[in-house]
Amino acid sequence: MSKKVVVIGAGFGGLSAAAMLAKQGHEVHVFEKNSNPGGRTNVYHADGFKFDMGPSWYLMPDAFETFFKQFDKSPSDYYQLIKLDPAYKVYFSDNESIVVKPDIDYMADEFEKLEKGAGAKFKKHMLKMKKKYELAVPRFLLKDYSNPTELLDMEIFKHALSLELTNSYHSSIAKSFKSPKIQKILEFMAVFLGGSPYKLPGLYNLINWADFGLNVYYPQGGFFEVSKGLEKLAKELGVTPHYNKPVSEIVVENGKTKGIVAGGEMIEADLVVANADYQFVEEKLLKEEYRQYAPSFWEKADMSPSGVCIFLGLNKTIPNLTHHTMVFSEGWENHFESIEKGQMPDSPQYYISTPSKTDESVAPEGKENIFILVPISPYLTDNEDNREKIFDYVMEDIKKKIGVDIRKHILHKRIFAQNDFINEYNAYKGNAFGLGHTLKHSITFRPPNKHKKVKGLYFVGQYTNPGTGTPLVLLSGILVSQLVQKYEK
Ligand SMILES: Cc1cc2nc3c(=O)[nH]c(=O)nc-3n(C[C@H](O)[C@H](O)[C@H](O)COP(=O)(O)OP(=O)(O)OC[C@H]3O[C@@H](n4cnc5c(N)ncnc54)[C@H](O)[C@@H]3O)c2cc1C
Repeated sequence: MSKKVVVIGAGFGGLSAAAMLAKQGHEVHVFEKNSNPGGRTNVYHADGFKFDMGPSWYLMPDAFETFFKQFDKSPSDYYQLIKLDPAYKVYFSDNESIVVKPDIDYMADEFEKLEKGAGAKFKKHMLKMKKKYELAVPRFLLKDYSNPTELLDMEIFKHALSLELTNSYHSSIAKSFKSPKIQKILEFMAVFLGGSPYKLPGLYNLINWADFGLNVYYPQGGFFEVSKGLEKLAKELGVTPHYNKPVSEIVVENGKTKGIVAGGEMIEADLVVANADYQFVEEKLLKEEYRQYAPSFWEKADMSPSGVCIFLGLNKTIPNLTHHTMVFSEGWENHFESIEKGQMPDSPQYYISTPSKTDESVAPEGKENIFILVPISPYLTDNEDNREKIFDYVMEDIKKKIGVDIRKHILHKRIFAQNDFINEYNAYKGNAFGLGHTLKHSITFRPPNKHKKVKGLYFVGQYTNPGTGTPLVLLSGILVSQLVQKYEK
């Protein structure tokens, strides 16, 4: 039966759920506090530059295909992808660098130069990661974990060892590769899963297959093109977005959702799908009696890092950068520890996105568009001093490793950090990627998609299943629509 559904938030999760539910024949309205779609996949324009403010790595194209296939569409109906070659470049603490190409044989030869025997081991590792990815992705990602019998999947038990649920991501990599350089290349993507390779289960190194086997893409025009594409698809299906409409309450009567209050107005609805940060929804939009979690749950949660995001428009192009450049310093382990402990890292690891290397629409001719992301603890105090300290460190480090004093070439500078994440998205502690994927927050232990106390209330997005990052968040909209079909007859 057709229902009226309101979705809180027009992030990738909200738009995905909205499109799926509209396809099922429901009347769907999306209420978003900000003025545009995409959530953390945001954009801003300044001084002739166009800056993507969130994602820049388009990984797991198969997940995007799966999403669009639900509507007999493909991503290319909404945006165009470019396969990046080189995929990225890595600078190490000794100022050496390596270019990463979407070619397993080439990378095996490169790894062999770093460690005798590593080439063959890398090829073996890739076969293992492909198998793991192909087993885990279709089997775990679209499951209803609110139903305990789903856990009695014999395949999970049969493959528990090879899925590496109990050892860490780092120990799984370190078992095969002794070279710290190779380890870093195979481990840095843990940050995309909201955590440290020392804390995440070995299961998640299947992202190595996403990196080297499925490769890294760039949406022409920038990642915000994907946000626009999702909004277009949702509208085509009949979804009505309402921007600049912050939701201040989920109204519950007799344990069942009755609607929301948005922009001061009561909007009645049969079902509510929450895409805003889970902690915000529980603690700010629901009355205490309906919350699933005590405040201590959130205080002790393994939150993903926040980020100091530095946006720079430069008056010239920088030769030693590729579209994606990772810069690794001495204190690899220290940086991850500092994120957990709420400290300033001694020598941060960071990432530089230079989309103007691929896309002339993001910078004026002859100029460079740079976004630097320094993962930082969400428990650190955000102030001008800390922001500038990190900025200075990064500028000096780029001079040393990449050989250019980019400070002399800045036409535009903006720093976006924890407090901005809170103001812009109601992000708990200013986190960037939601809840980390430690075992404590994986699979059945992740906050549920279907609220346990309030009938008719669902959650979509990076805090819930299947997890964080744009591909998984898109799949979570499919999952929610399956739950609605199952539970809301
Ligand atoms: C700097 C950065 C870099 C990243 N890099 C990558 C990457 O390279 N690749 C990748 O795949 N992923 C990356 N991610 C992660 C990715 O962006 C997220 O996992 C994903 O976009 C989260 O989508 P979501 O729908 O769960 O949440 P969000 O995008 O946060 O959407 C939630 C929406 O709810 C809205 N909202 C909040 N409160 C209210 C309210 N009261 N009323 C109405 N609306 C409300 C918010 O404004 C927001 O629009 C990155 C994230 C960041 C921040």
